Amino acid sequence: MTDATDRNYNFSAGPAALPLSVLRTAQSELLCYPGAGASILEISHRSPDFSAILEEAERNLRELLGVPDGYHVLFLQGGARLQFSMVPMNLLRGASRPGCYVVSGAWGRMALQEAAREGAVVTVWNGEAEGFRRVPGAEEIRLNKKASYVHMTSNETIHGVQFSAALDVGSIPLVCDASSDFLSRPIDIQRYGLIYACAQKNAGAAGLTVVLVRDDLLRPVRDDLASMLDFRRMADAGSRLNTPPVFAIYLFLLITRWLRQEVGGLKEIDGRNRRKAAVLYEVLDSTDFYTGHAETASRSTMNVVFRLPSEVLERDFLTEAEKRGLRALKGHRSVGGIRASIYNAMPLEGVEALRYFMLEFENTRTTS
Ligand SMILES: *Cc1c(COP(=O)(O)O)cnc(C)c1O
Repeated sequence: MTDATDRNYNFSAGPAALPLSVLRTAQSELLCYPGAGASILEISHRSPDFSAILEEAERNLRELLGVPDGYHVLFLQGGARLQFSMVPMNLLRGASRPGCYVVSGAWGRMALQEAAREGAVVTVWNGEAEGFRRVPGAEEIRLNKKASYVHMTSNETIHGVQFSAALDVGSIPLVCDASSDFLSRPIDIQRYGLIYACAQKNAGAAGLTVVLVRDDLLRPVRDDLASMLDFRRMADAGSRLNTPPVFAIYLFLLITRWLRQEVGGLKEIDGRNRRKAAVLYEVLDSTDFYTGHAETASRSTMNVVFRLPSEVLERDFLTEAEKRGLRALKGHRSVGGIRASIYNAMPLEGVEALRYFMLEFENTRTTS
């Protein structure tokens, strides 16, 4: 048997670290969900026990984000990547107005490629030629006023660049892939027409994708969509058109409870996340040994991406880090280097341990 003391500081980009108290609750309730006489894995998705889980999860989410009436909360499957297709199927297919895409990293680029299969798309900003080191200012985006929607990626998980707020797109519906910073900070939900996020970064386990969509965006949907890919049908069925990912929804509920009751809300978690990120960026700023990927103003509070002077040093760094119980720091293969993902569940102590190791590693490699 292993126990919690065998757990390392986990910098995985996703599926990512979960709060220990959430894992403990899930563990203690796994054999028998209180009052149900069976495991949460063994009861009907239409049972009163599961209905209560679904309802509380939605209520907590609405309260945490301040979601007003007029927005549907959908619990879907297929990951964020299915939303790359499902969003344009619902909002773009057959429309005369194009979908506009802001491409600030690899995920936004993929969202654009998938949308192009469904209808007309326009790239309104693309950071690829600059190596995806920053997000654009509003003045750089050439908006098409006759757009069906504008799509942005609030945090680019691979390149570590993040928008500080929703893009100002006037009255055009704003669509946002918030997969890797969902529930990490307060957002002004009314500035978005649709937000989606897979759960396995900040909000629980793989298998669940949360979609918030404003009611008026669902009206023009055509009738030739497969039921499972039609936001309207999913909304009408309360996310239970078929069997939803019950365990991932249960974990999502535990995460929202943790955020509300133990953390104290999104303002509080935002403060913690900013403090954690500042610890690591201070190290990057204090030396030439480590070089951050993102430009300062676009730095992500969730994914800190940096390089060392050589790939040999990077390999050593990862090996040594692993020995200290600092795991999953390898950067995405398309960028290389190091990526420290420090989502909600990463405690400040984990970030301090990484900082200490970075300073020590630099010392041993530059004074020998
Ligand atoms: C992880 C991630 C995705 C892909 O999510 P899946 O659930 O694996 O499809 C898409 N966008 C962003 C920003 C991500 O971080």
